[in-house]
Amino acid sequence: MPIPQALEALSQFLGERLTRSKSELDQHGRSESYFPLTPPDAVAYPETTEEVRRIVGICAQENCPMIGWGAGTSLEGHGLAVHGGVVVDFTRMNKVLEIRPADMDVSVQPGVTRESLNEELRATGLFFPVDPGANASIGGMASTRASGTTSVRYGTMRDNVIGLQAVLADGRVIRTGTRARKSSAGYDLTGLFVGAEGTLGLVTELTLRLHGVPEATSAGICAFPDIHRAVTAVMEVIQMGIPMARIEFVDAATALAFNAYAGVSMAEAPHLLVEFHGSPESVAQDAERFGDIVADHGATPFQWSAREEERRALWALRHNGYYAILASRKGARAVVTDMCVPISRLARAVEETRADIEASLVPGPILGHVGDGNFHAILLVDPDQPAELEAAKRLSHRMAERALALGGTCTGEHGVGLGKLPFMRAEHGEGWDVMGEIKRALDPRNLMNPGKLVPPPG
Ligand SMILES: Cc1cc2nc3c(=O)[nH]c(=O)nc-3n(C[C@H](O)[C@H](O)[C@H](O)COP(=O)(O)OP(=O)(O)OC[C@H]3O[C@@H](n4cnc5c(N)ncnc54)[C@H](O)[C@@H]3O)c2cc1C
Repeated sequence: MPIPQALEALSQFLGERLTRSKSELDQHGRSESYFPLTPPDAVAYPETTEEVRRIVGICAQENCPMIGWGAGTSLEGHGLAVHGGVVVDFTRMNKVLEIRPADMDVSVQPGVTRESLNEELRATGLFFPVDPGANASIGGMASTRASGTTSVRYGTMRDNVIGLQAVLADGRVIRTGTRARKSSAGYDLTGLFVGAEGTLGLVTELTLRLHGVPEATSAGICAFPDIHRAVTAVMEVIQMGIPMARIEFVDAATALAFNAYAGVSMAEAPHLLVEFHGSPESVAQDAERFGDIVADHGATPFQWSAREEERRALWALRHNGYYAILASRKGARAVVTDMCVPISRLARAVEETRADIEASLVPGPILGHVGDGNFHAILLVDPDQPAELEAAKRLSHRMAERALALGGTCTGEHGVGLGKLPFMRAEHGEGWDVMGEIKRALDPRNLMNPGKLVPPPG
């Protein structure tokens, strides 16, 4: 592909906002997970939708691949330029455009991070709830259809993006959705772009649903004698309709990693970390009902608090879970897995996975957003031991197959990227070919994040 011509034209247009410095190329060729370094040919930093449109026009004319980039925290090699090309980094398009408290929505540029958005919303009494732990960009979160600890109550990006603007491969700038809360007007194009991983176009603006900051919050923790009882308790709590705002599982190995990383003293046992949102009376009642249910499953007394500093400390612990686990094996790299099953199959899925990891070469603490039936094993491999990486990949492979066999999905929230491509056929059957047809209709020359999500051309 004649990429040099595209780079020359882009450089004339963007000046210093097109970079080919080795450090920046490497930074945009790295993934948080185990994929090898794959630097792009250049990185472009647009500041407006019109600039994105011109970048797309130049790249399309020269057949140069374009890969969107938010915060680069995705875990399956989503942003790696496997066919070369230009990474379009949205960090300079990071403005909150308009907050509309009366309608409880907000329009943002894609490079806004979820933490900075919530900072700007602070005075309004509203917040944006989707919380993948990492301080990801809203454009990246939409593109991976991210979710996280609060999705059991507030939904995922699918539920919270109500419209967007995107630049297509042919240079058209389209708007999807309206600010109405619902619509029956045709195909759901917003839903199509949410989770498209940049394969259909570059998202340059998003309108998001906001939620009221709850009047009161309570949070707490308890330990269980074994995984089975912890996960069965989750199922019962969800089935009884207790309004959980978060319900997170960590296994005994994760509890030990927390102890070493954060200086806490959790028992070496599976735990649930939970939160309730509501009025002062309702969060106290919910916490008590939850405590009664988990006691029937052999849990330690449920310790909860409505105090902000205790709640923050609990969730800081959980949000650092990945790094705590990574630190538990010196020099290790992580193969991060992500399966999601119907809640009735969750106990079996977690137990079989735990047993599989124990029979393998590599350590792999488990944690997850179990209220949604979603969990992760963080498989820790010595980068100098190829046999360990192979063992971890086989474990990850079996987890994906297990998820499908149990009626679930090979990825609950991280997305397809490179790592989950091998399971798309098994999960979607001919539906995967239809995804390829949609891709070809919008991007016939395969220039938008090629090598990802859809079946390879030909
Ligand atoms: C410690 C840790 C914990 C995590 N926990 C969770 C979790 O609980 N839940 C969860 O869902 N994820 C989690 N993740 C993964 C990650 O945070 C999410 O996938 C997140 O949505 C990625 O956002 P990003 O801004 O980093 O996107 P990037 O990694 O920059 O990009 C992701 C994909 O989106 C595309 N893209 C980015 N911006 C645009 C755009 N404007 N237009 C078109 N395409 C674009 C890219 O090409 C790429 O394919 C975690 C990651 C880490 C490191």
